[in-house]
Amino acid sequence: MNSRRDFLQKLGISTLALHLAPVSGWANTKNHDNQAYDGPVLRVAIMGLGSYGTRVAEAMQACTKAKLVGVISGTPSKIKEWQTKYSIPEKNCYNYNNFDDIKSNPDIDAVYVITPNGLHHDQVIRVAKAGKHAICEKPMAVNAMEGQEMVDACKKANVKLLVGYRMHFEPKTLEVIRMRKAGDLGKILFFQGLCGFTIGDPTQWRLNKQLAGGGSIMDIGIYAINGARYMTGEEPVWVTAQETKTDPVKFKEGVDETIQFQFGFPSGAAASCLSTYTMNNLDRFFLNGEKGFAELQPSTGYGPIMGRTNKGELNQPVTVHQTVQMDEMAAIIFHNKQPVVPIDGEEAVKDLKIIDAIYLAAKTGKKVEIRL
Ligand code: NDP
Repeated sequence: MNSRRDFLQKLGISTLALHLAPVSGWANTKNHDNQAYDGPVLRVAIMGLGSYGTRVAEAMQACTKAKLVGVISGTPSKIKEWQTKYSIPEKNCYNYNNFDDIKSNPDIDAVYVITPNGLHHDQVIRVAKAGKHAICEKPMAVNAMEGQEMVDACKKANVKLLVGYRMHFEPKTLEVIRMRKAGDLGKILFFQGLCGFTIGDPTQWRLNKQLAGGGSIMDIGIYAINGARYMTGEEPVWVTAQETKTDPVKFKEGVDETIQFQFGFPSGAAASCLSTYTMNNLDRFFLNGEKGFAELQPSTGYGPIMGRTNKGELNQPVTVHQTVQMDEMAAIIFHNKQPVVPIDGEEAVKDLKIIDAIYLAAKTGKKVEIRL
């Protein structure tokens, strides 16, 4: 224990982190980059065992700094299945009524909320009140006000709030950001982000205003919004937006089908983006500067991400996004590691402020100022 404490002290880890990482949560293994790892392991409970939760759980099997140790679900049969598959003990299984009891479970460090968007706010605040770090899926909330309340609650409880912005760790994305910062593209002039897919089942929660908070912008357009920010390295100062609805039965009041939006940035650069639930083959980022360009297509899918710049093909390694994300989140929580692009609650509130502004611009037809 003493050598472990010395090791932690050398790394500058707080006593809180020490408290969160008992000997059982300690690794001495190689990670997905084949690098040796001897440090604390982030013990995670996943809330919401749906399609993305299942993907995260699979990916976490290759993590070395994070481990799936618990579940929170409204479906007992899924809990049983996951318990068997991932050796999850009964004492780490909760439902939506009793998960506040996680407060007295020393074997869980963080809860990853992967439920419908409209539930994130209350669930993350309950996680914070239980004294556990909160990891939340995008969109973190359904508007900026709720997002800010989540940030405040986590601050008050002295826990971290991180958001599942998996692209912030993707190697080709990071290479474009590096090139832009190094000046390889020159002064940035323009960004285009196209994000969409054709959505199926009209009864799913993604098409329910209460649970989704909106439509395509909340789910997929957020990638273009967030991408416009990390690709240009600037925050937008105004937005204009136009909404098109071809099927008002499937896409009810408050659920956007297609929105095109444009940003202006302080440097004078502009962005033009499309978010839709009625077109496939839309997953493309294009960044244009005075000296060069970068293109990612696909740009935000699960991979492989592909891209090229004026200098040629991007050939950085293909990664499993969720594996890297969870290992990096462990390093952020335990070692206060600073990611190249932030993934904290404040970063998510910026996206939510922009989403609020896009909806306002689409509704009023006016240019809306953005203050982040
Ligand atoms: P799913 O519908 O596949 O799963 C959601 C799960 O949430 C359900 O299976 C259920 O799990 C739980 N749940 C709790 N309450 C409800 C409710 N009222 N209605 C429906 N489900 C409920 O959705 P996804 O997994 O695709 O999406 C979940 C979140 O993850 C969303 O916020 C989404 O935006 C985000 N996401 C992020 C992605 C990324 O790449 N970062 C990709 C896909 C989604 P249980 O039965 O265990 O209670």
